[in-house]
Amino acid sequence: MRVIDIIKQANKTLFSFELLPPLRGNSISSIYKVIDPLMEYNPSFINVTYHQEEVVYRKHPSGLLEKKTIRKRPGTVAISAAIKNKYSDVEVVPHLICGGFSKEETEYALIDFHYLGIDNILVLRGDAPKNQRTFQPEQNGHSYANELVTQITEMNRGKFVDDEMQHTFKTNFCVGVAGYPEKHIESPNLATDLRYLKQKIDAGAEFIITQMFFDNKKYFRFVDACRKEGITVPIIPGMKPISTMRELNALPQIFYIDIPEELSKEVQKCSTNDEVFNVGIEWGIRQSKELLDHGVPVLHYFTVGISENIRQIAKAVF
Ligand code: FAD
Repeated sequence: MRVIDIIKQANKTLFSFELLPPLRGNSISSIYKVIDPLMEYNPSFINVTYHQEEVVYRKHPSGLLEKKTIRKRPGTVAISAAIKNKYSDVEVVPHLICGGFSKEETEYALIDFHYLGIDNILVLRGDAPKNQRTFQPEQNGHSYANELVTQITEMNRGKFVDDEMQHTFKTNFCVGVAGYPEKHIESPNLATDLRYLKQKIDAGAEFIITQMFFDNKKYFRFVDACRKEGITVPIIPGMKPISTMRELNALPQIFYIDIPEELSKEVQKCSTNDEVFNVGIEWGIRQSKELLDHGVPVLHYFTVGISENIRQIAKAVF
């Protein structure tokens, strides 16, 4: 079922979460260990992230460096299919990115999704690889997420990359895109970022999932600004409970977001990561309850390999 239809049919705030494929070499059972404890709270959909190839340098005993391209977290499509098969009541939302894909390769991925009965996709541009300063599209690939949304919208109308193909099937994908309450790092200001977000919606995206935020005021202001820009689709708040001391500095560096002073003071009072974990749960419960009171369509959590904190938040909130 399409995420937008699930949201339209619901008369309450729904629950969903995002998973990362396991690190290469780890078993798929690590995914089920994250999902199983959360099933009690009836997730409406589960997102599965996509991870592009990375360049790594391996040092040989001779001292020479070997350059290798590897995917640390492969398996997005297979995990999505496995989840759909194992948990039949839950929809799955694989992520698809522009980086590393030509338009033809994107089309092959979309054909796989269609054959697997996957109805939903979260479309992203992807980040620049660590060894590059700026994002570079693949040859004959997409530079921005709105272009990838357009390709899927066209496939929904039966238009494939090769114009000469006839008698093609029509897909029926429901597409979501990312939004940034604290603006995207590359954007000069929020107003410009919102214009590009509107472009993704105009291209056919039907829902937005936000970057994580820790201060609900930022989400409420973002939603107001989106509505003024003419963006009317559901805006799903994305949340991640802080879980270690290290994240206090790491999350702002990785995701370009602020941690409110009240939360950072609480974390700094902790002497162990177990205490930080509990602070993260308490903050997550407060944040989620306020968002629930405001009638947000879905509460969406980023699991990053652990679900005990999200289980405790869901238990308190749903
Ligand atoms: P875009 O919407 O293309 O925007 C990128 C930047 O370009 C923005 O600054 C925007 O303002 C600007 N811009 C947009 N369109 C144009 C245009 N036409 N002309 C000029 N400027 C433009 N990354 C992964 O690799 N895999 C994942 O699974 C993944 N999942 C994510 C899930 C969520 C909920 C979020 C919030 C992010 C996720 N990301 C993921 C990270 C994402 O790929 C990065 O944040 C990336 O830098 C931007 O992606 P985007 O789709 O928002 O890009």
